[in-house]
Amino acid sequence: MSNLNPICPGSTLGVLGSGQLGRMFAIAARQMGYRVATFSPDDDTPTGQVADVEVSAPYDDLDAVRAFAKSVSVVTFEFENVPAATAAAAAEFALVRPGGNVLHTTQHRLREKTFLRDNGFPVAPFHAVTSLEELRLALHRVGCPAVLKTAGWGYDGKGQVKIDSPEHADTAWTGLETPEAVLEAFVDFEKEVSLVAARGIDGSFVHWDLIENKHEHQILDTSLCPANVPAQATKQAVEIVRGILDSLDVVGVLCVEFFLARDGDLIVNELAPRPHNSGHLTIDACITSQFEQQVRAVTGLPLGSTQTLRPAAMANLLGDLWLREGRAVVPNWSAALAASPDVKLHLYGKLTPRAGRKMGHFTATASTAAEAIAKVQAARAALNPRSISQSHSPFA
Ligand code: AMP
Repeated sequence: MSNLNPICPGSTLGVLGSGQLGRMFAIAARQMGYRVATFSPDDDTPTGQVADVEVSAPYDDLDAVRAFAKSVSVVTFEFENVPAATAAAAAEFALVRPGGNVLHTTQHRLREKTFLRDNGFPVAPFHAVTSLEELRLALHRVGCPAVLKTAGWGYDGKGQVKIDSPEHADTAWTGLETPEAVLEAFVDFEKEVSLVAARGIDGSFVHWDLIENKHEHQILDTSLCPANVPAQATKQAVEIVRGILDSLDVVGVLCVEFFLARDGDLIVNELAPRPHNSGHLTIDACITSQFEQQVRAVTGLPLGSTQTLRPAAMANLLGDLWLREGRAVVPNWSAALAASPDVKLHLYGKLTPRAGRKMGHFTATASTAAEAIAKVQAARAALNPRSISQSHSPFA
């Protein structure tokens, strides 16, 4: 189905997936007068709590998917691991934006990296691996250290292992428990940065400022904007991202995560065909947030300004902050918000905190990104003074 007429406020927007990204999409959509329906196997979800309608059914219940699509004007997703058949069933009865081709490419690391390489975008050398013998051969070609990643269903560093020496191939392959993987060269990067961008139904393209990211245990820990990188790196990132969105014919929001190598080169690490954790600070720092932009893009409305109003930083709040020595604790919200009146609290309504689970985030704006990061760090440290896992300063 294709249609260039905008879907106007008052219509219902459908989201496949029901996590925090769907929740922030739903909040933006409702602010603009849309209704929102969410579809996922779960109930009382972060998205469902703020949506008009929450449908709980498995993604492979294609009759339920079709009924859902009939009840909405457009279907988007907040989670790229929705099965391709689900997106195809939805497309029988509703516009799906971005299209199923974008999901297909980005939900599988091997397809994604092959697409990037074949279209001339910079990626680390990689090889497909389906057996221990292929892993040994790939290690010989790529060299050590290298990173072995499952081809599908990977996020936040799940399903990946660093291999420092060829003798560790056996353990790495058995430990990953996957029939299909990608071995890629380990990149000795100086920084990790991301660029969030959007493309409209008419091919219009906008991007936010480059964001600088710090990961802990392969999970995003803090982001700041604008990134402290040479202007040339930003220019190069924008060119790459524009090319990717055009090549995939994206209608929606897409984030590209990059490694900035020590020689100044940018290497694409990963694509996320939706708003991204590093872009959460756009809610408090920019004229148009990544979530409002997703609404605008998928409804066919004109895209909004992505201008950053003030330098900003974001710190993730993981479930670890709710746990101390295996026991549940209540984080000290008053102390955290007393740390700085510029800190904004975002919580996702998740009922069960678990170590490593993203429960919410803090954002702060300030006259410099360094001041903003100090504010979110101070607020997070005040939540649970005895927690040490997230209280260091990664941008020191
Ligand atoms: P991913 O889930 O693939 O985005 O990986 C999560 C994090 O692991 C990245 O943000 C990096 O910090 C680290 N990482 C992943 N792949 C590599 C690599 N090839 N070289 C160096 N670090 C990596």
